[in-house]
Amino acid sequence: MSNETESISQEFLWDKAVELYKSTLTTDSERSQMERHFPQFIYHKQVGSEYLIGVAEELQVDWFSQIYADALENALHMAGLDAAVPVRFTVASSAAIPSVGSFSKTERKKPTFPKPKTKAVIASTLPLHSAYTFENFVQGPSNSFAHAAATAVANGTSGMAYNPLFIYGGTGLGKTHLMEAIGHYVLKRSPDTSVCYITSETFLNEYINAIAAGTMSAFRDRYRKVDILLLDDVQFIVGKKQFQEEFFNTFSFLLLYNKQVVMTSDVAPKNLQGLEERLISRFQQGMVVEIESPSPETRLAILKSKARLLHHLVPDEVLTYIADNIRSHVRALEGALQRVGMFIAANPSISLTTEIARRLLRDYIEEEEQIKDLEISDIIQTVASSFGVTVAGIKSAERTQTLVTPRQLAMFLCRKLTTKSTPAIAEAFDKKHSTILHGASAILKRLETEEDLRKQAEKIVEELGRKPTDLMQN
Ligand code: ADP
Ligand code: MG
Repeated sequence: MSNETESISQEFLWDKAVELYKSTLTTDSERSQMERHFPQFIYHKQVGSEYLIGVAEELQVDWFSQIYADALENALHMAGLDAAVPVRFTVASSAAIPSVGSFSKTERKKPTFPKPKTKAVIASTLPLHSAYTFENFVQGPSNSFAHAAATAVANGTSGMAYNPLFIYGGTGLGKTHLMEAIGHYVLKRSPDTSVCYITSETFLNEYINAIAAGTMSAFRDRYRKVDILLLDDVQFIVGKKQFQEEFFNTFSFLLLYNKQVVMTSDVAPKNLQGLEERLISRFQQGMVVEIESPSPETRLAILKSKARLLHHLVPDEVLTYIADNIRSHVRALEGALQRVGMFIAANPSISLTTEIARRLLRDYIEEEEQIKDLEISDIIQTVASSFGVTVAGIKSAERTQTLVTPRQLAMFLCRKLTTKSTPAIAEAFDKKHSTILHGASAILKRLETEEDLRKQAEKIVEELGRKPTDLMQN
C-alpha cells in the first residue's frame, strides 16, 4: 500500500469510528463535550500492533482513557480495525503538538463531565413469562443449536462472538421461550442486571409516542442503559425507515459497550425484505441460529413435559397420537393437550382413548392438513374479493389492468403457496403453461417495487392463513 492510500484508509477508519461513537451519544452535553475533546487528539493511527491516540499531556491520557478508550476501541473495531489491535492514549512528542485553543486550564484540573458509561438498573420493560425457563425447554435436534447458543449467552461464556444472538424460525417453535429463558437465568444469577424484554412492536409504539411527546432523549436513555436487550419479533421493524435508523443507533450503542442483544424473527436476517443492508450485515455479525419444526420424538417429549407441568394425566398412547398428528408447531401441540386435559377434568369417569382424542381434536388436525396445502380456487377467490373483481374476470382473457393485476397475483400465489404443478395451475386458470410463468414473474417485479401492491398481497397471504413474510420468501 502506498503511503497516501494508507493514510486515506486510516482517515476513513477513524471517521467511521467517530461517526459510530457519535451516534451512541444521547445528550447534547455529551456531544458538545466530545466536540471539545476530540480536536485535542494530535494524531490517531495504528502504530505497529497498537492503535495510538496522541494527546499533549499525561493528565489528558488519564482522562481521555477513562472516558473514551473502551468506547473508541469498540467503535474502531466495528469500523474495521483488526480486533487484536488495542487502542491506547499516549503523550505525543512535544514537536508535534499544535496549539489547542479551546483547552482551558481550569477544565483540565476539574474533570466534572459525566462519564457516558453510567450503570443504571432499570426494570424489564415487559414481564417475562414465568414458565419460559431453560428447565422447561425441551431440547431436540430441531432446536439444539439455538439452545446451545442461548445457554452460552446466558452463562456469559460466548463473549462478543454471539452478540447479537439472532434466533429465527416459524411461529410457535419456541423462540420467545428461549429468549426469555436467557433473561430468567441471568436475573437469577445476578439480580442487579437490567434485562429488558420487549417486542419490536411495543418498541416501535414507544418510539412513536416519544416523538409525539418530545421525549426522545428519555426514550434513548432508557434503552441505552440496559445490560441485556431481548427484542422479540424483529420482523416488525421492516419498512419503517426512520425507526430503523433509531434502532440501529441504539443497537450499535449497546454493542459498543459490550451489552448483549438477543433478537428473534420469523425469518433469517437476509430474508427480512426491505431491511437496510447495514442492519442485515450487523445482525449477521454475531450468531444466527434457526429453530426448526420439532421431530416426532421431540414433539412427544415436549408433550410429556407440558402434561407434567399442567398436571394433566393423559395416557401415553394419546400423547403419541397428538405428537404424530400435530406436526406444525409447539403452540398447536399445547392447544391440543389443553383440550384433552379439559376433557379429562370434566369427565373423570371416562378413560380417554385415541378414538375419543381423534374426535376431540378434529379441527386441530384439519388445520394441520390445511397448512400442508392450499386450494387454487381459494387463492383465486381471496384475490378476487380483495381486488373487488369476480373469479370469472380473473379467469377470463380480458386484458384490462383492473383484471391483469389480480390475475397475475393469483398465478404467483398459486406457485408460491401451493405444491401444485404449473400445468395444474394452468388448467385451473384455463391458460397456457407459459402464461402462468410470465404472469407470476411480471407481478414479482412489481411486488419488489410497489409497496402498496405488496402490502395488499401480504394481507391476502394472511387471509389465506399463511405468514405475510411467505410472500417474498424464497
Ligand atoms: P415463538 O416465539 O417461536 O412463536 P413461543 O416461544 O411462544 O414460540 O412458543 C410457543 C409455545 O410452545 C410456548 O408455550 C413454549 O413454551 C412452547 N415451546 C416451544 N418450544 C418448546 C420446547 N422446545 N420445549 C418446551 N416448550 C416449548
Ligand atoms: Mg414469539
